[in-house]
Amino acid sequence: MAKALVVLSGGQDSTTCLYWAINEFGRENVSCISFDYGQRHKIELQAAEKVAEIAAVAHEILPINTFAALGGNALTDDIEVKQDVDQQTQLPNTFVPGRNLIFLTFAAAYAYGRNIEHLITGVAQTDYSGYPDCRENTLSALEQTLRLGMAYNITIHTPLMNLSKADTVELAERLGAMDAMAWTHTCYNGQQPPCGKCSACILRARGFAEARRRDPLIERFQFFEE
Ligand code: ZN
Repeated sequence: MAKALVVLSGGQDSTTCLYWAINEFGRENVSCISFDYGQRHKIELQAAEKVAEIAAVAHEILPINTFAALGGNALTDDIEVKQDVDQQTQLPNTFVPGRNLIFLTFAAAYAYGRNIEHLITGVAQTDYSGYPDCRENTLSALEQTLRLGMAYNITIHTPLMNLSKADTVELAERLGAMDAMAWTHTCYNGQQPPCGKCSACILRARGFAEARRRDPLIERFQFFEE
């Protein structure tokens, strides 16, 4: 049976992808990896660990701290997350240049040594952030590069590529991912309960609202408050 590796960030999208992979390849054939890339909020990695535990799949965290040394973005540096985009690049300052390319390249190298031929990533080009390394053309070019560069038949799956946030919520529900969803982390400000004000929190809340579902992450904190 084919084996699959999910790039798990600990967020809503990659968690949905993990359950997609379990449904597609069978739980015993799925494992996941996360990257400690020097992100300011280690809470993401704790979320990934918890999600993998709930999904009962193997999980490994790989260290790659070069992004923090490169600097210049709000996810690794101690600078404020801006709501608006940069005038020149039209991108928000949460964009970490090259991040997805490096993640998937390391994931492919990890997969190579373990006879894993399927990579799953939760990128979506419908995402309002507009990161260019989340687009279909980038991913298919990268897939081809990895196949050529490693002489290995690797396939990159992007089950959320053309889904809206509401579609993703519905998919997660159908796949039984909601228990794990309660432990995911999305907030750019690293807050728990989530700040509700940053662009990531707003996008997530909008998706759940449009899908007419309650976010189990929010419910988890309300439960503790009562
Ligand atoms: Zn937030």
